[in-house]
Amino acid sequence: MADTSTRRAGEIRHVPLLEPLIGDYEERCRTFGWEQARDLLAGLPDGGLNMAYEAVDRHAAGPLSDVVALRFLDRGVPTAELTYAELRRASDVVAVGLQALGVVPGDRVCTLLQRSPALYLTVLGTLKAGAVYCPLFPAFGPEPVCDRLSLGSVRVLVTDRLSYERKVAPFRARLPHLETVLLVDDDAAPTEGTASWDAMVASATDALDRSSFEIARTRPEQPALLHFTSGTTGRPKAAVHVHEAVVAHHVTAMWALDLRPGDVYWCTADPGWVTGTSYGIIGPLCRGVTVVTDSSDFDARRWYRVLQDQRVTVFYTAPTALRMLMRVGADLAHEHSFPALRHVVSVGEPLNPEAVVWGVEAFGMPVHDTWWQTETGAIMVSNFPGMPIRPGSMGRPVPGITAAVLERGPDGRAAVVDGHVHVLTEPDAVGELALRPGWPSMFRAYLDDPERYAQCFADGWYLSGDLARFDADGYGWFVGRADDVIKSAGHLIGPFEVESALMEHPAVAEVGVIGKPDPLAGEVVKAFVTLRAGYEPTPALQRELITFGRHRLGSVAPREIAFDQALPHTRSGKVMRRLLKARELGLPEGDLSTVEGQP
Ligand code: ATP
Ligand code: MG
Repeated sequence: MADTSTRRAGEIRHVPLLEPLIGDYEERCRTFGWEQARDLLAGLPDGGLNMAYEAVDRHAAGPLSDVVALRFLDRGVPTAELTYAELRRASDVVAVGLQALGVVPGDRVCTLLQRSPALYLTVLGTLKAGAVYCPLFPAFGPEPVCDRLSLGSVRVLVTDRLSYERKVAPFRARLPHLETVLLVDDDAAPTEGTASWDAMVASATDALDRSSFEIARTRPEQPALLHFTSGTTGRPKAAVHVHEAVVAHHVTAMWALDLRPGDVYWCTADPGWVTGTSYGIIGPLCRGVTVVTDSSDFDARRWYRVLQDQRVTVFYTAPTALRMLMRVGADLAHEHSFPALRHVVSVGEPLNPEAVVWGVEAFGMPVHDTWWQTETGAIMVSNFPGMPIRPGSMGRPVPGITAAVLERGPDGRAAVVDGHVHVLTEPDAVGELALRPGWPSMFRAYLDDPERYAQCFADGWYLSGDLARFDADGYGWFVGRADDVIKSAGHLIGPFEVESALMEHPAVAEVGVIGKPDPLAGEVVKAFVTLRAGYEPTPALQRELITFGRHRLGSVAPREIAFDQALPHTRSGKVMRRLLKARELGLPEGDLSTVEGQP
């Protein structure tokens, strides 16, 4: 950050906005460096950097102070909103309240809450106090909640009484680090081991009226967020992110999500997942937009109403949600109109070409895919607005990101020979997707697991665990997770390709494919299919789908089709192929903590 040493505390540096990426991708790749992006941030005096300051305070002191920062909806109906100035004050109050509870920099603060003002204020207040914020999915059952509270040595939990009594109180003895549980919207007298959120807010407001609050002067490398991965491939890992990550949140929210002041933005991801934080809170607020958030789950009609009534301009969602909208049909979309909508974006799973194109039918614009991981902290590969989309492709690396595919060894992961890897340069060669470390939002550790962290790197690359290829024009294509790839009669089959082909059949709403051991072929492809409304799971349809697959895919087509009412998903909305496979083979189901619908 330029100039920080000469600024006084509280003084705001007004920074110019970098222009949109549109049109000059190649040029931007040549000229852009993360150092330059750091200069887009305000920064704190003496070289400090704090995510919450970048997201809120600097706007609160500038021309955006009266713009609505957060608007809360309950089943589509607005219930509360906060301007940037109000958000600054309200998050200061929470920071003061946390400090009064003894929270010091480095402590971990967790939420187990639905999307509500208290959740967002806890995130920002925690960062302002210099502590580390860790979200939990509100639908987690007692085991996953306690495991994560314990793994994270969480000191303060903000939740509601029902969740506390069901999911935490019976296990409190297992959680020696958990000093304070703040209960939101709770009129009952505090019980032992709990305190009232409202009372904390009231006394912190008094304290703030009497004296001023100064945001923690966090360093760029100081931990800010702790995020558990989705657990798609096994036991979730806790990725540590630092304040400097905000540089990448800001730049990618600008280039990949195309966010600018004046936008009304809706991200449907739950803040329990990294998307809900990086792009549900920090990134968009950095861009000075109005973030709308709806408190409840998927409902096609309500979702269209929110897009229409809130005049949403940028919409960030997930393939599984898009598939659910597709399942309902485009007619419902056409009962609404979205004149304000400019950009529709997706993340979390491969986005079937079918869904990209369906966006045109439903919204009047294609859906733009983005690829990234909990570990990368921010979008790494994207179909940028203004650039031609290739349906089915993840897009191109964010300027400043070097991505490549590495030759695989027998285990399907990048082969490391004498400490070296081999970068595949021929177009369309399939290998493990790898990134050159050094971008600001890269995770700095898996909590308490240095060995697992070390295994993510080889020969100067971060290894993603996903398989991909890059075409001759530099567009990346997702093939599958290294663990999910199927080997059949000498072919390597990426589940995504098979799933996308089956999605083109009008009866198919969603599909997950696995490899099933076969004495001849090694593995054969089996597909689990959910049907669209109006289709019956008959043997005739089974045969029809097998033939349909064979026409499109040839030898890699599924040999078996099973109909499933609903596929298992993670809470972040991904099809859990490992669970389909374990069930098929009668194997142990492994860590189920992140399965949707699990108690
Ligand atoms: P775990 O690491 O615990 O198994 P997870 O990998 O699903 O879970 P996340 O970090 O939430 O946890 O998800 C990142 C993964 O999601 C990526 O590695 C990739 O497999 C998948 N993914 C995300 N975006 C895309 C996309 N646009 N296309 C294809 N896959 C994607
Ligand atoms: Mg992962």
